[in-house]
Amino acid sequence: MARVAFIGLGNMGGGMAANLAKAGHEVRAFDLSVAALAKAEERGCRRAGSAAEAVAEAEAVVTMLPAGKHVRDVYEANVIGVAPATAILIDCSTIDVTTAREETGKAAAQGYDMVDAPVSGGIAAAEGGTLTFMVGGEAEAFERARPFLEQMGKAVIHAGGPGAGQAAKICNNMLLGASMIATCETFVLAQKLGLDPQTFFDIASRASGQCWSMTSYCPLPGVGPETPADRNYDGGFAAALMLKDLRLAMEAATSVDAYTPMGSEAEELYTRFAEKLGGAGKDFSGIIKMIDDSWSPPTSDPAAPPPGLRLPK
Ligand code: NAD
Repeated sequence: MARVAFIGLGNMGGGMAANLAKAGHEVRAFDLSVAALAKAEERGCRRAGSAAEAVAEAEAVVTMLPAGKHVRDVYEANVIGVAPATAILIDCSTIDVTTAREETGKAAAQGYDMVDAPVSGGIAAAEGGTLTFMVGGEAEAFERARPFLEQMGKAVIHAGGPGAGQAAKICNNMLLGASMIATCETFVLAQKLGLDPQTFFDIASRASGQCWSMTSYCPLPGVGPETPADRNYDGGFAAALMLKDLRLAMEAATSVDAYTPMGSEAEELYTRFAEKLGGAGKDFSGIIKMIDDSWSPPTSDPAAPPPGLRLPK
């Protein structure tokens, strides 16, 4: 068992750190939030007074932070040059490919092995230890990170060199965002053409239109397996996080001059849903309410009632 520093104990990191503690590691946890720290302590972690204190004697450092700027700040101020150079550094946050590569390079220059290991799976998977990790880094760094990741997830896949984990994550989520929108508009059209949604589901899920957004995560209540659609689009994967990932995908596409018209359209539609229509906290499949007629389109008439998303009661 090892001394593990865990920084970032939010929705995802809280459960992940608890699973490492449950596996027998001595987890020294740090978060800027006192409440998150107290919860981690209740779940078997040791509270550290700062990130630097958490990493001081660490054999492994795991971070689960909101975005690239937090990762850069934490690694440059409190991890690189502070943790023992023998520690394996594992960043599980979803961040831009460029920052992931830069931080891995800066860590390597000081003798550290580092991987980017973003996850697929939400809060329930973080709690249950059933995340999927897509990992970027050198083969040796991957092998050093793997045992820790296996204690927090059900699948650990080496995607390639530094940054490849982040690349895999945003490409997957760009596909997911676009396929969810396509699923939503298809079901709305099918209904308008008089098709019963369940009948259409039974047909399309066994025909060439089949996709995960439909068969495993159908955006219509009462159709297919139980999903956030059956819970008023609460829980699940927040539209704000889908939008974050689509923006990272578009930033990456620009950086390599890739033509991604569907990804770009998906980003625009999720921006409207999450930021203009109040859907940010709803599951990303809730975008069907914007595509459906139950949504009142924005208007430039100042006397008109504010546009709003009429999510189901
Ligand atoms: P969150 O906001 O709940 O947690 C982030 C935590 O980091 C917070 O507790 C915050 O206080 C802490 N933090 C921020 N700056 C810090 C610093 N300098 N030092 C110490 N702690 C600091 O976010 P989350 O939902 O846990 O997501 C974390 C990452 O996982 C994000 O990159 C997100 O995109 C990704 N992700 C989230 C989900 C999900 O369903 N929530 C799914 C897949 C991936």
